[in-house]
Amino acid sequence: MSQKIIQRLCVIGVGLIGGSLARGLKKAGVVTEVVGAGRNVAHLEKAKELGVIDSFETDISQAVKGCDMVVLAVPLGAMQSVFEQISSVITEEMIITDVGSAKASVVKAAQQAFKSLPDTLVPGHPIAGTEKSGVEASFAELFDNRRIILTPLETSSSEAVSKVRKMWQACGADVVETSIEHHDEVLAATSHLPHMLAYSLVDTLAKMDEKKEIFDFAAGGFRDFTRIASSDPEMWHDICISNKDALVTMIKKFTDDLELLAKAIEANDSVYLKEIFSRAKKARDEFCEDKNINDSPE
Ligand code: NAP
Repeated sequence: MSQKIIQRLCVIGVGLIGGSLARGLKKAGVVTEVVGAGRNVAHLEKAKELGVIDSFETDISQAVKGCDMVVLAVPLGAMQSVFEQISSVITEEMIITDVGSAKASVVKAAQQAFKSLPDTLVPGHPIAGTEKSGVEASFAELFDNRRIILTPLETSSSEAVSKVRKMWQACGADVVETSIEHHDEVLAATSHLPHMLAYSLVDTLAKMDEKKEIFDFAAGGFRDFTRIASSDPEMWHDICISNKDALVTMIKKFTDDLELLAKAIEANDSVYLKEIFSRAKKARDEFCEDKNINDSPE
């Protein structure tokens, strides 16, 4: 029998990420009891019916009582309000972590809610997800072989970091640690910028007169490139606002490069074009090899 890592887990926000974490921990047999918390009773009832949680509360301050692990899996824009709701009931035994896609904004929200940061707080971010939302889209294997980035604070105790690490490892994840600043810069480049490009491309095409015909002719390449434009608009609104500085820097950098590309095409600059395409192909081939990805192009 697996050893329990967590006795009573509270997942605040039982959606894709929170639901998948609860499922993963239950599947691994490392949690005794899971309490779900959120706003919408119908969604929480569904989560209970699916066996993702054992019980639920809509009063978040009640839900966390007696828990040794509390995971905030709500949209970034809701983090501060949730921290405020739990601030008067947290205890020294209660480890608190989150799954937010940007980290500086979560720490700022915690600082404003708690005034002084508890040493049980360990911010985190799973580099795993899909374009779907809600508990029905959650699955136990979501974090299997995926990376989890923890951004421990100066105040975070080593016991708290160790327990959060063990929780994710039990779901099959590879846990790494980095600084908040580095996390937000890297994620702006590798995740937030690509989402902006996908949304922006689909929106540009959707606004064009020939929209119907354009989408009729769209093939696998378009589908692959734009899959992430089906992601939840509210979540991505929050991510943009939360990681504004790093994301705008990346968008500007990309816009400059795109401008150079347009000029090279206009000037029939074959050398420049082949140089870019070859460099990009090499970088992506190496990335795929490294990650064991086999997605041969159409
Ligand atoms: P989701 O499926 O929409 O789930 C969000 C959950 O939060 C829902 O259960 C929702 O409950 C609840 N919620 C929303 N606002 C709330 C509030 N004010 N108070 C209490 N509960 C609230 O979203 P998700 O994809 O799991 O994303 C959750 C977090 O994970 C976000 O911070 C996101 O940045 C991060 N993340 C997402 C991905 C991804 O690919 N999706 C990857 C890594 C990290 P209701 O049902 O009541 O609305």
